[in-house]
Amino acid sequence: MGETGSPGENLLSSAADQRAETEFFSPVPPGYETGRHKYVAVFGTVMSGLGKGIFSSTVAKLLKDKGLTVAPIKLEGYLNIDAGTLNPYRHGEVFVLDDGTECDMDLGTYERMLDQNLSRRNFATSGQIFRTILERERHGDYLGRDVQMIPHVTGEVKRRLRELAMYGDGNKPADVVFVEVGGTVGDYENGFYIEALRELAFEEGPDSVCMVALTYVIKPAALGEQKSKAAQLGIKRLMEAGIQPHLIAVRAEEACDRSVREKIAMFSNVPMHRVSSMHDRPSIYTIPDGMRAEGIDREVLSVLNLHHKVDTSVEDNARARWGEFVRGLTGRHDRRVKIGVTGKYAALRDAYASIDKAVEHCSASLDCDVCLDWIETTDLEDGPVGERLGDLDGVIVPGGFGSRGVEGKIRCVQWCREQGVPYLGICLGFQVAVIEYARNVLGWSDANSTEFEPGLGEGNGHGVISELPEQKRIEGLGGTMRLGGQDVQLTPGTLASELYGGKTNVRERFRHRYEVDPAYIDEIEAAGLVFSGRHPAQPIMQMLELPRDGAQGGASHPYFVAAQFHPELTSRPLEPSPLFLGLVSTALRLKYAEGEAMA
Ligand code: GLN
Repeated sequence: MGETGSPGENLLSSAADQRAETEFFSPVPPGYETGRHKYVAVFGTVMSGLGKGIFSSTVAKLLKDKGLTVAPIKLEGYLNIDAGTLNPYRHGEVFVLDDGTECDMDLGTYERMLDQNLSRRNFATSGQIFRTILERERHGDYLGRDVQMIPHVTGEVKRRLRELAMYGDGNKPADVVFVEVGGTVGDYENGFYIEALRELAFEEGPDSVCMVALTYVIKPAALGEQKSKAAQLGIKRLMEAGIQPHLIAVRAEEACDRSVREKIAMFSNVPMHRVSSMHDRPSIYTIPDGMRAEGIDREVLSVLNLHHKVDTSVEDNARARWGEFVRGLTGRHDRRVKIGVTGKYAALRDAYASIDKAVEHCSASLDCDVCLDWIETTDLEDGPVGERLGDLDGVIVPGGFGSRGVEGKIRCVQWCREQGVPYLGICLGFQVAVIEYARNVLGWSDANSTEFEPGLGEGNGHGVISELPEQKRIEGLGGTMRLGGQDVQLTPGTLASELYGGKTNVRERFRHRYEVDPAYIDEIEAAGLVFSGRHPAQPIMQMLELPRDGAQGGASHPYFVAAQFHPELTSRPLEPSPLFLGLVSTALRLKYAEGEAMA
């Protein structure tokens, strides 16, 4: 440490120094080189919900496209250890990473924008930070010192950021770490994150940390003009915390007027060419081009002194591929299908953010418009379902927990199965497909999941979906689910294997507690439902389908597919999920009767 001559060289203490009586407590992972990695910190001012994650992931993408290695992290202010216990209706979808981390939906945005798998290193909550500190304290690691917000808590934040920098994307250390600070500047709960970044910038030295303030300009209807005062005050608040932004991105409904940007520039010491407008756009996937046009990527490279790292041939290639995707997305489409999504949280689109995106990826790839019709399942519980579902070209029953709306979902599956409407069941949508088949084809009218009827099973009715044997032994919330990436073995010759391009082994992400009770598998299959994806070793059913030709047991359907996993979590702009592609392409084929090939 110290060879680089950065102002932080004396502050980055070794383990031995930390034991000594110094005020500088900045634990640094072994082998960390100061000045080797750069950081971009993104703060939100004025209000939350400005799209910090979208901004941060887009700039990260632009740099990655130039050949740099990037690693994003979201710092959450809440005290929960992870997002597993959060209600999606309040907080948006719970995104699940390959390593099983349950996190904020923004991590989904990062994975999709960067086409990069993330891990627990890319997500921190105040709860995690405090837990680490308190465990260390109980372990006696602070050697008699009083444990304080500064330097100990901020030190732990910096340690995690530096550790992530060294880990990078899992293959190479990060050239740039993107730090998204959750919440809004001035919130009580994220103050220590802001302080940690101020300290980081001081310790890492000049050109090492690019500070970005995302702000919002309002246009009150009564005035009809954009007003910048709230934005000015928000940025001032950041400056009071000791952070001078290098860049300001102004969010607004429409492009931000020059005079408004001038005021913001003038009050925040940021030159005009570093105050850019980021107005609302119909698709987030058009933002990278918009930001490049504003020159935001170049400004970040200038602040961090990184222009020499740009590989233009890598960039040309990445831009060409992305450009093709965006043209597919935004071009005029002659074909259009309407897909219903039935869910408990249908009123809140954020609760199904990844499904929304997976469908958008298909729209670009299949050159069509896909209109999503969000259906509240409790509306399907009585009356003829055909009235609500009749004009749909396909249906998705997404994941969910708890019994509310389940009977509506089961009726919805029945409609799709009987009417030959393309169906994609996800997680709970897989389970209700089994329940529906058991009730209406096998005639087990009492069939259900023990999630909704805990007394079922063991001689008392058909608990066709029940708790995983391996999970029954584990108690307590947060530890009882099968989470994260798992291998799925696909039966050769099935639609499932065909959708995945003939592969017989794929990896997908899970988040469930219940599964098909192995005792019923043979009888259900004998009645015509095919379990085409299984766990490689255990009797856990992971995909099901109805044959298209009706050869087995007489049942047939153009597209009746369901997965115990969540295919939406791994769908990427340039590589849409095969199960979504299959659904949309079948819906198109049936609607336009063109006989297109399956995805
Ligand atoms: N509630 C079901 C289970 O726990 C389904 C979960 C889900 O859809 N994510 O297995």
